[in-house]
Amino acid sequence: MSTSSLPARPRALRQRLFETSINRNSRGGEFDNREVIAKIAKVRAERAALLGYAHHAALQIDEQTAGSVENVLRLMAQLAPPAVANARKEAADLQAVIDAEGGGFQLQPWDWDYYSEKVRAARYAFDAAQVRPYFEMNRVLEDGVFYAATQLFGITFHERTDLPKYHDDTRIFEVRNEDGSPVALFIVDWYARPSKRGGAWANAYVSQSGLLGTMPVIANHLNVPKPPAGEPTLLTNDEVVTAFHEFGHALHGMFSQVQYPRFAGTAVARDFVEFPSQVNEMWATWPAVLSHFAKHYQTGERLPAALLEKIQAAAKFNEGYRTTEYLAATLLDLTWHQLKADEVPAADQVL
Ligand SMILES: [Zn+2]
Repeated sequence: MSTSSLPARPRALRQRLFETSINRNSRGGEFDNREVIAKIAKVRAERAALLGYAHHAALQIDEQTAGSVENVLRLMAQLAPPAVANARKEAADLQAVIDAEGGGFQLQPWDWDYYSEKVRAARYAFDAAQVRPYFEMNRVLEDGVFYAATQLFGITFHERTDLPKYHDDTRIFEVRNEDGSPVALFIVDWYARPSKRGGAWANAYVSQSGLLGTMPVIANHLNVPKPPAGEPTLLTNDEVVTAFHEFGHALHGMFSQVQYPRFAGTAVARDFVEFPSQVNEMWATWPAVLSHFAKHYQTGERLPAALLEKIQAAAKFNEGYRTTEYLAATLLDLTWHQLKADEVPAADQVL
């Protein structure tokens, strides 16, 4: 969306929308869920006490990699100051736009989205269509996602056209170790189709298990629109990053070496499960990997550095606000769940 296409909505309407949204489910009537929230917090606190924990947060975190509520709070205490400092800088940028337009008011929560879109469009806009010719789907898969995994882990990918497939749009690869021994089957299912749910995810159709003697069959599902026959599939930058992300989950499943299927692959602590995928995302823009796959599908020319810088700068935009917002939500959640049963507020005190 460019600035010029942004409709000039009255500020009073933005305020009304914001306040209506933030107060929903807490203004009485059949959709008021404050009582439900208070009850959930209370029974969770009671369960934690029965199981010998100080509170629900301690019970939940006990089996996570973080280990303790104190560890979580310590990490968040490190993140909060720089995140808030960034959010303040972003707020100053937004105020500058308001002032330049002669707005004559102080930035309020309901102004944030509207003015941050103006700043984004003015400073970080790039034409997504300019980037896509460098992200042809099969190059991204084979020269990007697979290439990075071969460089890192020595595994190689061998297409199996002899195996039955549940859909013609999919591709199946046998993944092999350096010595040629099999690791897993990997199903690439990147195209959207009407019967598929939205989003992107990894799935283990067969989990690895020493007990059952099974090897992993892992799939990555994306929702890339399929072009008309004969045209190349050109991905957006987001789709490229998503492809690397989901392949991180796939690696987690393929490298599983456990006895019991209960612990196979991504069946790990909730606060660890996104680690392999987030690490694998890094390779999408790692220069040695990017330069290997991001080539113009017609000319073979590499993705220009200036264009890449624009993509990366745009990805960081508004991060102060976003990080502050989720840290605030996390702290609120942790605070609620450290209450003892008799400390949980009554429904009319919830908000
Ligand atoms: Zn993920």
